[in-house]
Amino acid sequence: MTDNDVVSDVVSGVEPGRAPGAAALTALLDGDYAEVRAKVRAAVAEHAHLLTEVEELTAEDYRERVRQVLVEMAGTGLTGLGFPKEYGGAGDVGASIAAFEALAYGDLSVLVKSGVQFGLFGGAILQLGTERHHEAYLADVVAGRLLGCFAMTEHGHGSNVAAVGTVATYDPDSDEFVLRTAAEDAYKDYIGNAAAHGELAVVFAQLVVGGEERGVHALVVPIRVDGEPAPGVRIADDGLKMGLNGVDNGRLWFDDVRVPRTALLNRFADVTPAGDYVSDIESPSRRFFTMLGTLVQGRVSVGGAGIAASEVALTIAIRYALRRRQFEATSTEQEELLLDYGQHQRRLLPLLARTYALHFAQQVVRRDLHRVFSGEVTDEKSRRELESRAAGTKALGTWHATRAIQECREACGGAGYLAENRFAALKADTDVFTTFEGDNTVLLQLVAKGLLTDYAGEFEEMDQLDMVRFVAGLAVDTVLEKTAVHKLLERVRDWLPSGDQGEPDSIGIRDADYHLAMLRFREEHMLAGVARRLKRGIDQGMNPGAVFSRVQDHVIGTARAHVERLVLEAFVEKVRAMPAGPERDLMELLCDLHSLATIEADRAWFIEHGRLSVQRSKAITAEVNRLCRDVRPHARVLVDAFAIPEELLRAEDLLG
Ligand SMILES: Cc1cc2nc3c(=O)[nH]c(=O)nc-3n(C[C@H](O)[C@H](O)[C@H](O)COP(=O)(O)OP(=O)(O)OC[C@H]3O[C@@H](n4cnc5c(N)ncnc54)[C@H](O)[C@@H]3O)c2cc1C
Repeated sequence: MTDNDVVSDVVSGVEPGRAPGAAALTALLDGDYAEVRAKVRAAVAEHAHLLTEVEELTAEDYRERVRQVLVEMAGTGLTGLGFPKEYGGAGDVGASIAAFEALAYGDLSVLVKSGVQFGLFGGAILQLGTERHHEAYLADVVAGRLLGCFAMTEHGHGSNVAAVGTVATYDPDSDEFVLRTAAEDAYKDYIGNAAAHGELAVVFAQLVVGGEERGVHALVVPIRVDGEPAPGVRIADDGLKMGLNGVDNGRLWFDDVRVPRTALLNRFADVTPAGDYVSDIESPSRRFFTMLGTLVQGRVSVGGAGIAASEVALTIAIRYALRRRQFEATSTEQEELLLDYGQHQRRLLPLLARTYALHFAQQVVRRDLHRVFSGEVTDEKSRRELESRAAGTKALGTWHATRAIQECREACGGAGYLAENRFAALKADTDVFTTFEGDNTVLLQLVAKGLLTDYAGEFEEMDQLDMVRFVAGLAVDTVLEKTAVHKLLERVRDWLPSGDQGEPDSIGIRDADYHLAMLRFREEHMLAGVARRLKRGIDQGMNPGAVFSRVQDHVIGTARAHVERLVLEAFVEKVRAMPAGPERDLMELLCDLHSLATIEADRAWFIEHGRLSVQRSKAITAEVNRLCRDVRPHARVLVDAFAIPEELLRAEDLLG
């Protein structure tokens, strides 16, 4: 396929405006949710003018417009797909995530407010509450008639949620809970919908019943009545933020606020009218992690949104690079197109390949989420693996967004800096995706904990230090035996020659099994190294916290290596499942580019660990360059395949 083909097909009226072949790739990208995503694209496109409008609006008006759009979107039914049908939803968790991802092509304040309202607030009521809460609230939540907050984070504690300082004490005399912001830094902070629009909040607090502390639980608390703070609630505005200024983030204090006993979201634990605390889950920490685990869909949503935002940025930058000319290079007749420069290809095309890889990895998380939440899969291990995969994909997807959007902005030169070309908002609005719904670094620690303990029965009970002790208590070989990667190790070792053995030509550099073996080896080796170092530190009598801290970069690196492997596997499996044909050929090309660029990025490590000779390493770099040249003629079709409505791209001058 060449650019000429693109032009001729466009001229002949085939898929006007889009490169030929794009529709087939869109079908691949949309997967099982093509219809839902098409509907969301159309609905978001109807609000495309908001992207321009916000540049003129005051912060207050921007919030109000976002609220209006949110309510209108709720009216389409597309924001509530994950809720049960009886409350206006479609009972389809997978569809709700797919819809959210497509929503990310538009204004990101609308997206995030929608995430707060339907994913966090509504999701918490659905997952942590029982029928009485569902009946009381869900229909209004889904319809956008009742806006609310998810009030977990406090100024004093964000990542360490178990340590929040809000206290809910049961008062048997009145059959109520009394909520109190019990420490100076225990006010709820950064809470979406709190500063202006929320009427109710799901508040996470330490439950005290009969004088006994029962750990963090969630309660439904009115925070605003007729536009004014509810009695005992103080509200402050977080003020101007780096981005997402259409969302009203705020702070909440509770001064002995009384709510009925039934306000406790009681799916996992309850207090009886007699004042007894009851729960089927005996261990407090397991109960806490079970509660948090039910909220995993927020994490899956944000990861997907980050990937979608990268798709917007790459569409603009690549289409611009296919029009913009600078300097005469191969011809004296006209200047060269940006995308015909090797370096421009290098900057954008591996990012495009990685975006596809992450998109497919996100499909896997979404599928797993759907299976677990629709009850198709019920075992504990699958649930824990989902949590780990969701955490890892969210971290890599949102870091990728930050990097890709910046590179795309620079690739558009000065024009990239103008608000009308979208990068200003994209950069500002997606930046915090790396932090909310779990800080990425903290999430990777969670992934590592799962790997090191193989999601052992004790997994959920363990904090970082317990985990160190747990690992140290095992022989290193046992740690390895317990991991899934170990099962592959012997095969990989036999198959993957060391870098010292003059292997360069013996294995095809474009062989997907070779790429996978390399990433598996890295993961396995790093995991073994971490286990050994943790064990050695403890054996030497060091404080477990100090041991962990010393090894922490290695821990995070291991988790990253693990998720990189999962992402590549998702891409390879996707390609292998495709029927033979030009789309599959193109996806193979892109997958090779992603794999080799990933190996190249860490070539120092592979050389250090004897899995890459210097010669082979250079060959990989040459191959990445060649693949960039091979992908270049398909760049347009690859971005057109994202099918982002033209009006949402704005950037008229760049796109032509
Ligand atoms: C715009 C916005 C909207 C938000 N919306 C909501 C909302 O609606 N509801 C809600 O409840 N919360 C919300 N949050 C809060 C958000 O979830 C938290 O900011 C996030 O969980 C991180 O917590 P923190 O800010 O306290 O950072 P910290 O936990 O203090 O982390 C700060 C830094 O320390 C590092 N760090 C922390 N622990 C460790 C460790 N053990 N080892 C190594 N490094 C570590 C982290 O990687 C991070 O870089 C929002 C935040 C923002 C900015």
